[in-house]
Amino acid sequence: MSASAASTFQKSLPGSEDLAYLVDNLHFGQKVERAKQLLRWAFDNYGDNAVVANSLGKDSMVIWDLAKRVNPNVKGFIVTTYYKPAETIEFMNNLVNDNPNLKVYGSAHKVDDLYKTDPDKCCQILKVEPVRQAVEELNVSCWITGLRCTEGRTRTDFKEIEERDEGLIKLNPILLFKEREVWQYLALFQVPVNPLYAEGYRSLGCAPCTSITTEDNERAGRWLNSSKCGGECGIHTQPLKDVKTANV
Ligand code: SF4
Repeated sequence: MSASAASTFQKSLPGSEDLAYLVDNLHFGQKVERAKQLLRWAFDNYGDNAVVANSLGKDSMVIWDLAKRVNPNVKGFIVTTYYKPAETIEFMNNLVNDNPNLKVYGSAHKVDDLYKTDPDKCCQILKVEPVRQAVEELNVSCWITGLRCTEGRTRTDFKEIEERDEGLIKLNPILLFKEREVWQYLALFQVPVNPLYAEGYRSLGCAPCTSITTEDNERAGRWLNSSKCGGECGIHTQPLKDVKTANV
């Protein structure tokens, strides 16, 4: 599948030239069907090389459930760090136990308290590099994410199909889902979620960099009180394929 063919498919989806309009004007059922259509396209064209990135958050659980409905043999990967909360680790272990097609990656580098002084570098070592490793080892040519364009200030410009890296398509099938529609899906299809959401978190990451807030911005509790507040770890903003591992 060439990049231009992916672009042609994207353009064939109704309304894809104005995603902001679709966010507000497609209803829940239409968004679910659109997500399945995107997933079908990915599995038809990339087969086993279409792989789900599962961050263990609510959006990832929606995309993992949808992907399994479209392709029961779908493969996925999780990147964990030794800073993940105990609840997240337990949730991950149960999920992997029930889903042997999910492979876990993580860095063995010791970074001490780097998140306090240089969170970008910490994320680079503990998150971005293991994702690159997963992309290489699993021979991923289409990675499927749970990214949504209404999550926060850094996520407004993504498309449902992206061609950022040479040889690596990124598919965002639930890009149009609002937070409410994510919870609607999880409730209707009885998909398990990390118990930390019940405490008030709306976006989950590593323990030292994740807070409960009352801000409107869904990702406002990520890297609170730092220059990275509400930002990104880097996996959605950096190249992932055929990149030399950083000298860390
Ligand atoms: S979220 Fe925080 S602890 Fe986790 S990798 Fe990034 S900076 Fe490090």
